This record gives sequence, structure tokens and C-alpha cells, in this order.
Amino acid sequence: MKKHVLLLVIAAAACVWTFAQDNAATPSQNDSQPQTQTTQTPSSSPANQDATPSSPSDAVPATTTPETPKSQDMSPVPGNQPAGAQDQPRPQDSAPAQLQVQSAPAAPAPTSFGDVIARVIEREHFFVAQMRHMHPLVETYIQNMRGDKDMGQVPQNDHYFLGRLDLSNGTDDKSFLGQPGFRQRFMGKLTSLYSMRFLPLGFAQMVMLDSDLQTKSYDFSFVRREFLGEVRCLVIDVKPKPHSGEGRFLGRVWVEDQDYNIVRFNGTYAPHPRYSYYLHFDSWRLNLRPGLWLPAYVYSEENDTQYHMTNLHFRSQTRLWGYDLQHLGRHDEFTQILVDAPETVRDQSEAIQDATPVQAERNWQRQAEDNALERLQTVGLLAPPGEVDKVLTTVVNNLEVTNNLDVQPEVRCRVLLTAPLESFDVGHTIVISRGMLDVLPDEASLAMVLAHELAHIVLGHQIDTKFAFSDRMLFPDDETFQRFDFKRNPDDEEAADKKALDMLKNSPYKDKLSNAGLFLKALQDRAPVLKNLIRPHLGNGFSNSKNLRMAELMTTAPELKKESADQIAALPLGGRIKVDPWSNRAEMQKGKAVALLSAREKMPFQVTPFFPYLTRLQSGNPSDKVALTAPNK
Ligand SMILES: [Zn+2]
Repeated sequence: MKKHVLLLVIAAAACVWTFAQDNAATPSQNDSQPQTQTTQTPSSSPANQDATPSSPSDAVPATTTPETPKSQDMSPVPGNQPAGAQDQPRPQDSAPAQLQVQSAPAAPAPTSFGDVIARVIEREHFFVAQMRHMHPLVETYIQNMRGDKDMGQVPQNDHYFLGRLDLSNGTDDKSFLGQPGFRQRFMGKLTSLYSMRFLPLGFAQMVMLDSDLQTKSYDFSFVRREFLGEVRCLVIDVKPKPHSGEGRFLGRVWVEDQDYNIVRFNGTYAPHPRYSYYLHFDSWRLNLRPGLWLPAYVYSEENDTQYHMTNLHFRSQTRLWGYDLQHLGRHDEFTQILVDAPETVRDQSEAIQDATPVQAERNWQRQAEDNALERLQTVGLLAPPGEVDKVLTTVVNNLEVTNNLDVQPEVRCRVLLTAPLESFDVGHTIVISRGMLDVLPDEASLAMVLAHELAHIVLGHQIDTKFAFSDRMLFPDDETFQRFDFKRNPDDEEAADKKALDMLKNSPYKDKLSNAGLFLKALQDRAPVLKNLIRPHLGNGFSNSKNLRMAELMTTAPELKKESADQIAALPLGGRIKVDPWSNRAEMQKGKAVALLSAREKMPFQVTPFFPYLTRLQSGNPSDKVALTAPNK
């Protein structure tokens, strides 16, 4: 298979990964000409994207669209169909939990503020009813902060939680309003990390404003009109009436001005019970189904809030995704059979014979790999194949080409949708987490991560083929983390590091490895306080108590200068990868670089507030890409 070097240019701290002209590639093979692509995407206005947590001073000016040189060679496995192929009409399921998508009734435009409020309340009740059928994944990542005289606020420890939201039995009475005390929630729920258990309360409740919003409980006052992204909103202050009960919402809501759905609310619950405390939050919903805006992001922070002799000082991000549970990982079997028409099978002349022993072994490995990937996707942890995978595959190609490697079956890349920094391989598929992709500052650092995994593949470190038996995939979702383990033993890890370094030294990244080393230094610096961010759940961690992966690269790296705004060693979370909470598709943020004012804005590995660019779902085909996608694409 002929491969080419394709360089992505990932500027330090740039929020876009782009293909651009760069002749730094010096492939060692004659048949592998460096190839550059400069496909321009439509230029977008600066505000036409989500706010980025932090941005580079030396960013790439043009945004370009990645294309994979391997696209023709992709085997017709279910995952590799183009994104558009999933936009087929979906067979209707008759499951009782089926979401009833329903647009707002075409009511006459409200003529008074009182009419507006009546509509808002009606839509919010519809929202609450819909949420009872929804079981998205909920991930909360918390960093406890401390003041630092030079850096402003820095993390001092962290907590991580992943669960599935279930509001089906009664959030409206005591479980929602009479929540247990903050301390109890904080400690009790969040120390049992990374279980897939039911998440009853805690941060997830901040997706609900009030499960029974009523005019009799609140005073509403109009503030102004304001755009959030392309959506014009009415901004309304909301205050509980006296004696309307504990735990009512107090704050501000943004209501889109077509159907009067709440798209954002910001505030807290009040009054709080005597022995508990309500956190402040900023809660965002996206237009994921016609007429329905669903929770996607919740940011929370407290600064020096006194609670029970304790100083609360933290920042947290809660993300929700995997709403379309019924279709995650399902590839519309009937469509699939049509796509894989018999002609395509006949074309593969090799495939009409029995497999040779070596081929059979490879097929068996691939089957185990595909089973495991499909299961991870069905649970909602793995993004379906998409654009980000192609970018990653390009970097892998560059490593292969410049090292005279032709790995068969071909190496694939996928995105794990969770925040903790991890990467691992499942057979010949490299899986890298969203959080990992977010914080990597440049392409050389990405190449470092991918090289380590590619090294495992090249060295023949194999997947446990027990997954090749289909019955082993039939386990409950909440056992995913117990059943799947892609960890390597220390000997394999060491061998992979060594091999990866060799490969990097032949690669187009060889002159930029000091950047990768610098990233490792930044990671090493934060690792003691961000234990939950670096704790892997399926594979090997980037760092354990003693060793850092690829540590040798640090010897060539410059000194870590935390106070310098120019040296970007690692990025904040959330800057690169955007996930569509309905379909779980991952895509690159198209954010434009912003020059940093000071080193305090570097915020390596840190949590920042959310400012998504809101768009309306284009009506028509409900399977269309959803609101997250940049509107001018
Ligand atoms: Zn490894």
C-alpha cells in the first residue's frame, strides 16, 4: 500500500490542527513523496465558534480541512462508512423509552411578558418530561484550586466521576430539592471514581433548573435581548418568591426567542437548607433534536466559600453525551448489507480462499479488536469513526512511512470520549482520549503519544483474543471497565518506549521532539496534584508514581518556564475536541487563536468555563448534524 507523508501543522497551543504546507518532511523512501494539502475551508468570522479556553500567540492563520490519504484503502468495516452514511432514516424502535421528538406547537407569538413566561414554563415542563427518558453519560471533573501569587489559581487536587444520568424516578420531590449536604455528596459520591453507576444527584442535578417550574413560585423580570452564538435570546432574571420552599432556582435564564426553550441558566439554588450548601453553576443546553434543547455542559466554581469550616475553592466541568443511546454503535444493519454488495466481495481475490494460518491469526485478532471497539462505542465511550480519526491516522502514516513500515492490517485511530489522559491500543487500533488530545500542545507531542502505541503494534504486543468470542461482549454496560483491560506489562511498556523513540528519530518530528519533552515536563509537574486526570481507566497511564512514559525525551527539552506566556507546554482541557452530545461524533474545534495576555492564561491541564456557540438545529432531517457543528460548514 502506497503511503504518503502528510504533515499536520499544529502550532504551539493552537486550537486547530491543520494540514498546511510544510516541507519539513523528509521521508526516507523513494515512493513516499511528502504531500501537502491546503484545502481552505470557508473562513469563519472570529466569533463564529465556541470560546476557547486559551489560545496561542503564534497560531496557524488558516483553517484547513484534513483528508486522509488512506480513505480509498479503508476496509468496509461497519465503522468506516462516511459520516453521511449514518444519516439514513432510522428504523423506528418501539421501546417504551423512545424519545418523543416534538417541536413546540405553532402558537401565536406572545404579546406580553406574561405570555412569554407561560410559554417558557410550558416548554420547561416538556423538557423535564423528556429528560426522564434520557440516559446520557455524565462526566464531572473537579479541580480544587488554591491561590498562587504568580499564577493566580492553580489546582491542588482533583476528582473525577463518570456515570449515566437517570432522572426517571422522581427528581421532582425530595431527591432533587432535599439534596444531601454538599460535603456528603462531594466526598461520598465522588470518591467512588469512574464507576458506571447510577448518578443520583451531585453535579448532574445542575441540568435541572426546577423540575416543576411554576409562576406561583417565582418572580420573573426581563433584562434584555442577547445573542448566544447565532441564537437570539431573552435574558430573564428569576427569583423564588418568599416561602416557595428550599432549593428553588435563583439566577438568570436565557430563553431562545422562537419556541421559548431555556438554553442557558446561571445561578444557584436557594434558599439552602440549614446544613447544606448549594453550588453555583452555569448550565448550557444544545438544540439536539427538533424543538428540544438538551443539557450538554455545566460549569461550576466556588471561590473561598466558607462551608462547615472548610474553604470551598474549586472549578468543575460537567459534560453530557451519548443521548442517542439506541443508535450508538449501531450501524443500521440493512443499510450495511446493501453497502457491502456482493461485487465488493468478489473484488477481493484473496478473500475467496481459506485464510492461511497467518491470515487466520490476523483475522482472529481483528475480530477481537472489532468486537471490543464496537462494545466501547455502544456504551457511549468511543466516538464513532470520524474526522478526528483521520487527523490521527495521518500522523501515524507519517511515522510508518518514514520508518519503512507497512503494518497490516492497517492501523486505525479512534477517540475515547472521556477526559482522563490515556491512550492504548486495541489490536491495530490506537485509542486516545479526548482529554489527552485537548492538552497536547503540538503535532510532535501527538506523534509522541501515537508512536508509543504504534510501537506496541509493531512489536506484536497483542490484544487478548478472548474478545473474539461474541458471547464475551454480552455484559452489562456498567461492567465495561472491569471487563475491558488493555493495560500492558512493564516490560512491554519499556520496549514500546524504546521502539517509539527510534521511530520518532526517523520521523518528520525529529527536530521538534523537545516540544514533546516539554509537554512531559509540564505533565510531570502537575501529575502529583492531578492524580485523577492522569489515572487511566482502560490502558496504561502516561505516568505512574515512578515513571513517565517516554521520559527520555525530557532530556532534550528546555526548562519549563511556568511564568512565561510564550512557552506553551500543555493546553487547558476542552480546547481541541468537540463532541456532539447526541451522536457522539467528535470533531476539531474551529476556534481561532487568541493571544495570551499573561502566563496566567496558559492554564495547563486546567478546567475553564464553557462558552459554546449556540446554533439551531436545521429543521428537516432530524438525523442531520446537530447544533454543535459550525453553521457555515
Ligand atoms: Zn504502552
